[in-house]
Amino acid sequence: MPRSILDKIQSKFTIFFTVIALIASLSLSGFIKAQAIATNAVVPKISFTFDDGYSSVLSQAAPTLASYGYTGTSFVITGCVGMTTAPNTCAADTDKTYMTWDQILSVKNSYGWEIGSHTIDHSELVSPDENTGIVLTDAERINELVQSKADLAAHGIDATSFADPYGDWNMQSLAEIAKYYAVHRPFADTVDYANNNHNNAYPYSDLLPYVVQVTGGVSVDQIKLQIDRAKANNYLLVLVFHDILNGNASSNPDYYEYNTSDLAQIAAYAQQQGLVNTNMTEAFINGTNLVNNGSFENGQTGWTTDAPSNVVLDTGNNGSYPSPTNSIMLTSNPNQDSHLFFDLIPISSVNSYVVKSYLNVLSVDGTSQVGFYIDEYDINGNYLSTQAKPSEGSVWVEMLNFNYVPSSSNVAQVRIQVVVTAGTGLSAFLDNVQLIQVAGSGVVVVVLGDIDGSGKVDALDLSIVLSNWGKTGMTLADGDLDASGTVDALDLSLVLTNWSN
Ligand SMILES: [Zn+2]
Repeated sequence: MPRSILDKIQSKFTIFFTVIALIASLSLSGFIKAQAIATNAVVPKISFTFDDGYSSVLSQAAPTLASYGYTGTSFVITGCVGMTTAPNTCAADTDKTYMTWDQILSVKNSYGWEIGSHTIDHSELVSPDENTGIVLTDAERINELVQSKADLAAHGIDATSFADPYGDWNMQSLAEIAKYYAVHRPFADTVDYANNNHNNAYPYSDLLPYVVQVTGGVSVDQIKLQIDRAKANNYLLVLVFHDILNGNASSNPDYYEYNTSDLAQIAAYAQQQGLVNTNMTEAFINGTNLVNNGSFENGQTGWTTDAPSNVVLDTGNNGSYPSPTNSIMLTSNPNQDSHLFFDLIPISSVNSYVVKSYLNVLSVDGTSQVGFYIDEYDINGNYLSTQAKPSEGSVWVEMLNFNYVPSSSNVAQVRIQVVVTAGTGLSAFLDNVQLIQVAGSGVVVVVLGDIDGSGKVDALDLSIVLSNWGKTGMTLADGDLDASGTVDALDLSLVLTNWSN
């Protein structure tokens, strides 16, 4: 290999070891901040969540996770806060004790946890109450969402995630939750049991992520398997715990108990496998939205339509958090497709992006669909190509998220297009359309030279190139960045010129 490149490697390694020394000198809080920055990268992530706000969040869960550099999300029942003796009247479990507000604030401020809402009284949001048979009215259900958020806000907690008691949700409640919270964490019913897949593939679903119940009967080894999957595929793993006991946790799943020592084993293994810590709100791709007026709060700016009767600004609070007031009402036209065109957005062809949109499909006709397209333009505004993206033709409430990688280096601007195909019966609300730049990916090498998808070009990427040096029949994952078939000086130079980007 040429001398100049060897010199470059040497100087890059000097930088590398300086960085290592710098990281070593950082305090623990500095380390947690560094992790938070990395969470938008597409890397294996783990989220520890704990329902009901039991006293054991502070006494067991928080200190246990902290010793492995992890935090969690505590979903609090605001009306049960301060029930420090048992038996009590909390509907979640009258035999357990619940944190005080001061203790909740300790979990948040001393341990860096997220505090989310788990209603005001642990009511089933949509099903008949198992004791009384009473079903909440619409107003009562919305009050569970709004008042619990207000209770938390009154104690300085901005709750942006919500978990429903018993995982009891339907499309109507999901649309209501989406008005007040960025993230909905379900209970167990979205798990893909058929494939034993309890992980979330990028780009994950903010309103309906897969989760794993970790309770009596679930072994540490079962969770280790899910951690292995997360690591192998850059998945997000969301674990759901309830009470954590320092020994003698019941093996009966209905008691929702787990031993501290088993939680510690799970955290230790996740740390060993390099899973990045994320709370529930941070878990999803967040960042600067490049779409002008994607929340429609500024009315008729930033977008146009060729079907003003079928693509209509709605001001009736039918959108999603954080600005649900305005949205777009989409209806199908029997005779033609209807389009919403956003303004051109300047992008960089070397980056990767995620497009996120709130979509609430209220009715369908079996034919009509809401589809997303990305039109690509060059720097002079000449049309180049179109990428067809996901579409929805079912009644469903979701953040419809997808990945966008520019088709060529000529792409300098994009237009997001939302199409309602011709039909007689589709209606939907669209809101909070976002285009966000991301780093790293499990799908493509986003940052050129980031072979292992860590979000950075670093010594690991360099070692992949060097260990396959000169070999033929190589892939991107082997370090053949320019797809020449051989790992060679060009690949090495791509790693070096993008170092730590
Ligand atoms: Zn609960």
